[in-house]
Amino acid sequence: MRRRSALFLAPALLSLGSALANRSARAQAAAPSSAPRLDVVASFSILGDMVRQIGGDRVAVRTLVGPGGDAHTYQPRPSDAAAIRSAGLVVRNGLGFEPWLDRLVRSSATKAPVATASQGVTPRKMAEEGHGHSHEATDPHAWQDLRNGQAYAGNIAEALATADPSGADLYRRNATAFRTRLAGLDAWVREQVATVPAERRIVVTSHDAFGYFGAAYGVRFEAPQGMSTESEPSAAQVAALIRQVRAQHVTAVFIENMTNPALLERLSRDAGVRVRGELFSDSLSPADGPAPIYEAMFRHNVGLLVPAMRGA
Ligand code: ZN
Repeated sequence: MRRRSALFLAPALLSLGSALANRSARAQAAAPSSAPRLDVVASFSILGDMVRQIGGDRVAVRTLVGPGGDAHTYQPRPSDAAAIRSAGLVVRNGLGFEPWLDRLVRSSATKAPVATASQGVTPRKMAEEGHGHSHEATDPHAWQDLRNGQAYAGNIAEALATADPSGADLYRRNATAFRTRLAGLDAWVREQVATVPAERRIVVTSHDAFGYFGAAYGVRFEAPQGMSTESEPSAAQVAALIRQVRAQHVTAVFIENMTNPALLERLSRDAGVRVRGELFSDSLSPADGPAPIYEAMFRHNVGLLVPAMRGA
């Protein structure tokens, strides 16, 4: 535990993948064989990481939508229902992110409590275009604001403490350490964004996953796809975005790790700008990728966004 905290304090740590692999090898070796671990099902990879960081060796986490997966369009498997049935706790994002999970929980007839990680955060509402009309929808991507991430950590710690009271002190201690790291990272993101002139802080990406990030850190995000990857943009919407990229000389155009890159690649070609890389929005990378944990996702995204917005 102590060593892990020290490891993740270093913001410039590059070899996170191997650090993570070492960490999990250590965690497994150190797992007490006598005490049964709490089985926790997390709906997607970002929550899976948070539960692991806060639960430590006392929890065994199963993540339903793994690295690179798209939770908006996920099709549950029969083994997911079995995992939920036998779980001691289910952790979901909420804010309408995983409607399939609510159906799965009902049909599995599990007795496990279902914790909502986003409980208490202020939801963002956005106008969504669809089927020729506009309606107001709740943006589920609240984890993209690190202050919300701190709220998630508190909610997860309390859910773990309720499900496994004898681990309550450990969960709260781990959550406090995690939140302290997130607060430091939040300050770093602000410093980084502050190096970009205000009029350059505009980014085009695949789907509207960065509304909370934009509101928290002062960056405008435009996306051809709405807040869910289920919706397809109209030709007129894509054309309007291409005109905007050209008119405002937008240099920060990105694909996302869990969406189909074809649309953004075509958009960037038609607008005459190159795609600057891959942002992690709704999912982490595998352990050997650039964003295997929540904090690494921010370091990776901000590391790409800032020079791209500057036009470097
Ligand atoms: Zn999304």
